Amino acid sequence: MRLIFIGPPGVGKGTQSALFASRMGIFTLSSGEIFRKEIEAQTDLGRLAQSYIRHGDLVPNGVTIEMMAKRLREPEVRKKGFILDGFPRTIRQAEALEEILTELDMPLESVVSLEVDVQLIVDRLKDRLGCTKCGENYNSKSKPPTRDGFCDKCNSPLMVRSDDQPDAIRNRLESFRAETAPVVDFYENLGLLRRVDSSRDPEQVYQEILKSIQ
Ligand SMILES: [Zn+2]
Repeated sequence: MRLIFIGPPGVGKGTQSALFASRMGIFTLSSGEIFRKEIEAQTDLGRLAQSYIRHGDLVPNGVTIEMMAKRLREPEVRKKGFILDGFPRTIRQAEALEEILTELDMPLESVVSLEVDVQLIVDRLKDRLGCTKCGENYNSKSKPPTRDGFCDKCNSPLMVRSDDQPDAIRNRLESFRAETAPVVDFYENLGLLRRVDSSRDPEQVYQEILKSIQ
């Protein structure tokens, strides 16, 4: 299996990647994870990436692509397959990835776009509450505090976290959509894109993805 998962924060992309990794025995590759590994191993690429991260700069495209290519060439990844999570983010990365995979003779099978109704994500995230003092997290539906509106640990008032406010969520989803639209179009034109409704429970979404990629 050689897949890409695309989806904004809050749609359960991490959950699905983990399910596929454990049930299918394939690798989940994200640029974050690859950066960490290269930096830990202090490879040339790792040190280069680290120098950007340390200065608060974005790791340049070329370095990210080089690291991804290195990981994709590893025999275990070639043998078992992969899901790319959070990569590619740009057309340039998508084109570079096509070149690498063509060279390795392991073409992508599908690109899965996990999609949900914006209102649904807004509704789901607005149940999350955080303590204004100690930072403990609650959920008014699944993990309510003992005393309504107050922290169990320190008795301070609870609030919807600022990045979970409806406007913040809408902005985040909108900028994700704008940022990834060209990449989504790129794979749509290649006939690889599969859109999956990600609003149901994880097991149903998992089955939907399996169906869509067959
Ligand atoms: Zn507290």
